Amino acid sequence: LNRLRGRLSRSQNVFGQSLLGLLGASTIDEDSWTDIEDTLLMADLGAGAAMEITDRLRKEIAAHGTTDAAGARALLRRVLVDAVGTDMDRSVRALPHDGRPSVILVVGVNGTGKTTTTGKLARVLVADGRDVVLGAADTFRAAAADQLQTWGDRAGATVVRSAAGADPAAVAFDAVKKGIETNADAVLIDTAGRLHTKTGLMDELGKVKRVVEKQAKVDEVLLVLDATTGQNGLVQATVFADVVDITGIALTKLDGTAKGGIVVAVQRALNVPVKLVGLGEGPDDLAPFEPEAFVDALLG
Ligand code: GDP
Repeated sequence: LNRLRGRLSRSQNVFGQSLLGLLGASTIDEDSWTDIEDTLLMADLGAGAAMEITDRLRKEIAAHGTTDAAGARALLRRVLVDAVGTDMDRSVRALPHDGRPSVILVVGVNGTGKTTTTGKLARVLVADGRDVVLGAADTFRAAAADQLQTWGDRAGATVVRSAAGADPAAVAFDAVKKGIETNADAVLIDTAGRLHTKTGLMDELGKVKRVVEKQAKVDEVLLVLDATTGQNGLVQATVFADVVDITGIALTKLDGTAKGGIVVAVQRALNVPVKLVGLGEGPDDLAPFEPEAFVDALLG
C-alpha cells in the first residue's frame, strides 16, 4: 500500500483530499454536491458512476447527517470501494498446472505500454519460478521485438521473434510451439496495436488467436490501457473488446495521472476487471490491482 501511495501521482491525492474536504464540511449544500460530482467526473469515473456515487453519498448523509473528518473518510472509502468492486476475479488466469503452457495474449493500442507490461509480467512469473516464453508478435513496430528481447534477457525468459514486418500470427504460432516443446509454464504474446481500421485489427488479432488455438487454449486476453488517455482510451478499449474477448485489463501509467477513476469507467464499459496496474517504467512497477489498497491510496 505504501508503494502504491508513493507511486500514485500527488494529483490523485488531491482528488481524494478535495472530496474529503467537501464531504467533511459542516454544511453540504447543493453547490457542494455539484462540486463532488464534478470532482468525480474530472477523475474520469464516467458520468454514470459519478452520478451513482454522488447519489449514494447524498442518501447516506441525508440519513445520518453530516459527519466529522473520520466519518466522511469512512463513508467515502466504503462508497468508492463498492464502485471499484470487490467481487470480481482479478487473478490472472494463468498457470493452471495441467501440463501445458498457459497462453496470455497482450493486446492494446501502441504506446499504451503493451511491451513493457508483457516484460514486467514475465519478470513476475519467472521470479515465481516459472518458465516463460515471450512471443514478439508486434512485428509492425520495428523496435518492439528488440525491446521485448531486452525484457526477456533481463527476466530470464525465452524470446521468440522474427524479422520486422513478418506475419504476427506466424510469430505467435512459433512462440506457442516453443512453449510446448520446452515444457514452459506460460507463453506471453505481445501483439501489434494498430488501430488503423477496425477490420484490419479484427483480421490481425483474430488470426493470431485462431493460429494460437491450433496448439493451445488462450487462457487470458489482457487489454493494456493507458490511464492517462482517459475517455479516448476508453473508446479504444471498446473497439478491442468488440474484436476479441477481453478477460482482464492492465491499466498502465497510473503513476502519471490524476484520473484514476478510469478504473471504474473501464470496468463498467467492458464488464471486465482491472487485474494489473502499471506504476512506473521500472521492471518492478507492475502490481496486482487491489480495490481497497487503491482507494486507500487515493484518499491519502
Ligand atoms: P507499446 O507500444 O504499447 O508496446 O508501449 P511500450 O511498452 O513501448 O511503452 C510505451 C512507453 O510507456 C514506454 O516509454 C514505457 O516505459 C512507458 N510505460 C509503460 N508502462 C508504464 C507505467 O506504468 N508508467 C509509466 N510512467 N510509464 C509506463
